[in-house]
Amino acid sequence: MQQLNHFTRLDAQRITEIAAAVQSPFYLYDEGTIIDRCKDVLSMPNAFGLCVRYAMKANPGKSILRLVAGQGLLIDASSMMEARRAQLAGIHLNKIILTAQEVPAGEDHEALKQMMLGGLLYNVCSLRQLREIGPFAAEHSIDLSIRVHPGVGTGESASRNTGDHYSCFGIHLRDVPEALDYANSLGIRFVQVHEHIGSGGDPQMWRENIDLELSFIREYFPDAHTVSFGGGLSEARMPGETAADVQMLGLYAKEKIELFYKETGRKLRMEIEPGTYIMANAGYVVTRVMDKKNTGEGGFNFLILDGGMDMNARPIMYGSVHPYYVVSRDGRLLFSEYRDMEAGGYEAVVAGRCCESGDCQSLTMQGLSYPRKMAEPEIGDYVLIGGAGAYCSSMAPFNYNSFLQAPEVLFKMDESFELIRKRQTMEQLLQNEL
Ligand SMILES: *Cc1c(COP(=O)(O)O)cnc(C)c1O
Repeated sequence: MQQLNHFTRLDAQRITEIAAAVQSPFYLYDEGTIIDRCKDVLSMPNAFGLCVRYAMKANPGKSILRLVAGQGLLIDASSMMEARRAQLAGIHLNKIILTAQEVPAGEDHEALKQMMLGGLLYNVCSLRQLREIGPFAAEHSIDLSIRVHPGVGTGESASRNTGDHYSCFGIHLRDVPEALDYANSLGIRFVQVHEHIGSGGDPQMWRENIDLELSFIREYFPDAHTVSFGGGLSEARMPGETAADVQMLGLYAKEKIELFYKETGRKLRMEIEPGTYIMANAGYVVTRVMDKKNTGEGGFNFLILDGGMDMNARPIMYGSVHPYYVVSRDGRLLFSEYRDMEAGGYEAVVAGRCCESGDCQSLTMQGLSYPRKMAEPEIGDYVLIGGAGAYCSSMAPFNYNSFLQAPEVLFKMDESFELIRKRQTMEQLLQNEL
């Protein structure tokens, strides 16, 4: 079988054809997987309506935004720049929510006002944000959303837990009464209550969060018609990992929202904001083996690829593990993490070309590289890093060592491929220098 894995219709032969046309390194996204994921989340069971927003920070390119929007997803923007970017991609402001750490002061203040007049939903994340924008919202009778910090959370690693006391996203439950007093004094309505507990996707935590959120909507937010559970649907990048069970979580939420209706007479619409779940397994970093080294007794085999942390920084940031694929120059699949898990013999540390000892795709949480089983490639063969559709291109520290930002390619439903972002040029790298 030449197919990489069960997520995609991409096969080894096609990858070498695309690589011959585009030149490594590049990002490759599978349109079919993205569409499947969109359909999957849109099928989530719900009681009184479901709205799915794509968390665009996972992968914010214009083609991706249009693709997911075309499937019926709205947009979750994490900064005003992101909201602006979605708008420039042709997405109407009334399909965008802004959930940001920024305080809309100065120029941003004017820009935010214009966006809100255009239909953007502003998700208030701090008391200061509320005081900055409250009078304007009141004056124009613009309803707001509020992000509540619940005091609990979950994440794949501590640095991605967004809900506990180590993180500072949203208005802490302790400050909610003060926010409400202020909003009431101006006559502002919070029509949506939002929480994002992090990207770990621990289903028990998700369920507890649903209970918690409904309880404080009941206690504090009489005007809310929508409850947003945020993102954090986990994805299984590696064999053996488990993805969020969207059907099961939906059934749980549905039951709780129906119960809420029985008890209060209020029909809440439900909202979710997946980023990872839509994009992670749709993407690959496609690289070529440039060099091979060995570090002697007690050391490891190293493969030096033409792309590494400059394209996928998740291992160095979080100790994340991504699947590998090895494709020969002539288009044979020599190794797939999904097909050849028990493959024996060869083990290597996959390294990039940056002058940084942590530029490896397999690192412990302490930052030490370790070898992984795979097939031994020849120089010039391709190594693909899977699970790379979310938070790889968008978070990459790509100009370190003056390497150029890599291009992005979309493998389409009809099996053609399309360049959706060109490689950065040296001129672009230098253009703002004076
Ligand atoms: C990052 C983020 C998301 C998406 O999280 P994923 O783990 O990628 O699904 C959703 N909502 C908000 C507010 C976020 O900041």
